[in-house]
Amino acid sequence: MPSDSLFCKIVAGEIPAELVYESDTAVAFRDINPQAPTHVLVIPRKHISTINDVTPSDEAIVGSLYTAAKEIAASEGIADDGYRAVMNCNEGAGQSVFHIHLHVLGGRPMNWPPG
Ligand code: 5GP
Repeated sequence: MPSDSLFCKIVAGEIPAELVYESDTAVAFRDINPQAPTHVLVIPRKHISTINDVTPSDEAIVGSLYTAAKEIAASEGIADDGYRAVMNCNEGAGQSVFHIHLHVLGGRPMNWPPG
């Protein structure tokens, strides 16, 4: 279903972003407000608002976000030291853009539990 979400506009090239990865199903770009030396957002080309909206037919698409994350971690040089791949769901978890996105964060030590 078409959407005018911020991230759909990045997928469409209507809003600029520093792209680092593209596939048939996913696009990745640097976060505008990075929280780590590497902070990349991996999103599906398909508009899906939240994890709560994922359906079984989306499983390959959502899986492809992790394939992308693995490749981005390697190309960013953070794969061996380690990185975090995290997706927030709804406001209570900190989601502010309602088009699912995997945050790939690395290049510094990561604390657990997250805040
Ligand atoms: P959330 O809070 O939904 O989990 O993450 C949204 C992320 O999108 C935030 O880390 C925020 O910095 C990033 N963001 C918001 N607007 C833009 C934008 O226009 N361009 C880019 N590259 N990142 C954005």
